[in-house]
Amino acid sequence: MLSIGKNWIVVGVVLVQGTQSVSSDTPKPHFRNMAGTQTNMARQTSEELAAIAAIAPEKLSDVGLSREAYAFKQRVYNLHVARGVRSGRERIYDLPAAQLALIDGTGIPMRRDAALHLGRLMAAARADLARDLAATGEDAPTAQRRMRARRVRELAINNAYRSASRQFGIWDRNFRQYYEATGQKRRALAGGEHSAQAAEMLRDYIGVRVAAPGFSNHQGGIAVDFALRLQPDPQQPAQKELGASMAQVDPWKDSWFWHWLKERAGEFGFVEYEPEPWHWEFKPQQAEREARSRRVD
Ligand SMILES: [Zn+2]
Repeated sequence: MLSIGKNWIVVGVVLVQGTQSVSSDTPKPHFRNMAGTQTNMARQTSEELAAIAAIAPEKLSDVGLSREAYAFKQRVYNLHVARGVRSGRERIYDLPAAQLALIDGTGIPMRRDAALHLGRLMAAARADLARDLAATGEDAPTAQRRMRARRVRELAINNAYRSASRQFGIWDRNFRQYYEATGQKRRALAGGEHSAQAAEMLRDYIGVRVAAPGFSNHQGGIAVDFALRLQPDPQQPAQKELGASMAQVDPWKDSWFWHWLKERAGEFGFVEYEPEPWHWEFKPQQAEREARSRRVD
């Protein structure tokens, strides 16, 4: 998936079972991905080992939880990570700082090559936005582009690279609200609120709300969530910004920015993640393939 981060990708069967902890004095365990290839632990750098250890289940916070509830939290975490491993996706830990760069004009990091191209994309989008605002043509496509452009206050980026440890922090902090939201249902189970069945129920509940550390598309440093700040609209005073929200899929697809991205993001190597119109990924080869197939059509 990511050639540049190859040596950072470890699929941790060892980790997810939770019975063995990963530390430098563990004698030669192997990481095995779903294809069955093995990476010898001895080849892991100390930086990598630190990143792996930072998201081990033992690092989850136990604040406010009974011993039993904390053991349950760790079990749910292991189940969630295990499902990611079973899916066959590569598990990605933190990218080394040397592989990251800030996207032009922002404090947001991304993988170096993706950051460079995203900076160019944003500059081109802003230039085209100005052009569409100034266009005087009265033909339907020009008029529609101008109308959509007038709703835009600012093209922005909300989110790009996220480290595994940051994703871990999100998982850890959010657990309590998910635990409480499912409490009544879990207590009604025959085995009780902390049973194996309860753990699977909570894993499924969490699974659609937050990615397991190591399995967020943002960790590879190639994903970006765009945002669109809007001009005040008397018709919809509450809608000030389009962001990463499933409730905003329709307005996104009616926005100037999304239509522009569909038309030109490929030139900069970015492809859309279809279910989320704000989420795009730097995959230049795929973008090129898609452009070629459009030319053939
Ligand atoms: Zn995203």
